[in-house]
Amino acid sequence: MPKQGFVYLIGAGPGDPGLFTIKGKKVLEKAEVVVYDRLIGQEILAYANKDAELIYVGKASGHHALSQDEINEVLVRKALEGKTVARLKGGDPFVFGRGGEEALFIRAHGLEFEIVPGITSAVAVPAYAGIPVTHREATSSFAVITGHEKPGKAISSIQWDKISGIGTLVFLMGVENLEFIVANLREAGRSMDTPVALIRRGTFPDQEVVKGSLADIVDKVQRAKFKPPAVIIVGETVKLRDKLKWREKQALWGAKILVTRARAQSSGLLEMIRDKGGQSIEFPSIEIVKEADLSPLYEAFTLMAGYKWIIFTSVNAVDIFFAELRQKGLDIRSLHGINIVAIGPATAQQLTGRGLIVELIPEEYRAEGIIEALQDRIKAGDKVLLPRAQGARKILPRSLREMGAVVNEIIVYQAKVAAHIDTVIMEAIKEGRLDYITFTSSSTVTNFVKIMGREYARDLTGVKVACIGPITAGTARDNGFTVDIIPETYSVPALLNAIIQDHKLGL
Ligand code: SAH
Repeated sequence: MPKQGFVYLIGAGPGDPGLFTIKGKKVLEKAEVVVYDRLIGQEILAYANKDAELIYVGKASGHHALSQDEINEVLVRKALEGKTVARLKGGDPFVFGRGGEEALFIRAHGLEFEIVPGITSAVAVPAYAGIPVTHREATSSFAVITGHEKPGKAISSIQWDKISGIGTLVFLMGVENLEFIVANLREAGRSMDTPVALIRRGTFPDQEVVKGSLADIVDKVQRAKFKPPAVIIVGETVKLRDKLKWREKQALWGAKILVTRARAQSSGLLEMIRDKGGQSIEFPSIEIVKEADLSPLYEAFTLMAGYKWIIFTSVNAVDIFFAELRQKGLDIRSLHGINIVAIGPATAQQLTGRGLIVELIPEEYRAEGIIEALQDRIKAGDKVLLPRAQGARKILPRSLREMGAVVNEIIVYQAKVAAHIDTVIMEAIKEGRLDYITFTSSSTVTNFVKIMGREYARDLTGVKVACIGPITAGTARDNGFTVDIIPETYSVPALLNAIIQDHKLGL
């Protein structure tokens, strides 16, 4: 019997990828087709299986959106092909998401579905602006209303006289109709002193808030040239924002930070920036490419017992080493008796996560640190395995050999210039719409310069350059950058802390 198709209608939440549900993620990971709307962020789409077919059905300037009928057709067609389909919608699929219509259409074609609710913008966006939708002393009810109803419609589907009496009113899709909404509430008798807030791109690191009263909000919004998408919230709880505002107090609020690591590696840093309220811009200037010929590594695997030390100088090296080991039908048991060195905490964590004890992490997280730490421990004739990147500095193997070690340096990967960078990101970088550029290795510097050109560094003004350590900073200076920030310890968390300190000073 052919495989039955299935559709999941999934709410992706209001924007912040951290607000996507665990169930949504699980379902998205196994979907073969992903049908998604505008405002669904890259971070969430990245959970999709890499072989999944991604179908964009939203509107974007210049592109025609698929009509609801066409979207329904796509869902059913893919499910009839036997595919598992994930239909990703902003917020919650059943809150002005037309999820109900899609579900009815799917069922009418004899297909099955499941609903995975999402966090609706109606509640979460005000929350990110420090506005609760209910509050014991202020209101005990709230309503979510479409703001999309056009002025002049003969019979309104909104009973303005009734909703006007509800404590908190949340309007979605209403920015362009604000004047109409305010007029209707006035007519229905709502006091013109009632506080109102509009929150644009809520939960994103560039969220904007305009606050006023029914009397002056139209004017304020016009002056601010406020654009959709935004949530409009009307009611006494809006006043609480003065006391409950929290987003704007986060340590990196307002900071735009360029992250230049390889995509696979940068997620940690991106997430740390996001957690602190900063805006991270991903520039994956390097791509990690596994070495084509790994026969020297395989040979080392067969002679593993002879090694006294293995030194890992990057997370990439750990990843590739163990993936290949596994490929050869081996596991950590073949490292029995070998002392393991990691250049820093991130690399060490990858090793301990695989059940290994790390013998040594140097005080200073760089080659010199390892050399110093091994000075008294290496004995003449000790065999050392050093799996690492092409073009890495020679000082480590050279110094180890001077100590009498027999070093087998094996190139396991290359950090190559990334092939493709998003044009929108490229524009932002070119125009210097950034506060910080981060470099976490020399190769991120050289590849960035290869892509952007040498003049870029020379002409850079008003953007601070933050480097993970002195070696990377040296490379940055050699390439014409003025380096502003180097943390005391050479790790990503320390780099981020140094940026936080700097950002505080600038406020
Ligand atoms: N199903 C969605 C709503 C879809 S209607 C939900 O549950 O959130 C689209 C409207 O939602 C937009 O016009 C806007 O009013 C609101 N919206 C969605 N995401 C938003 C965000 N991040 N910031 C502000 N408003 C948002």
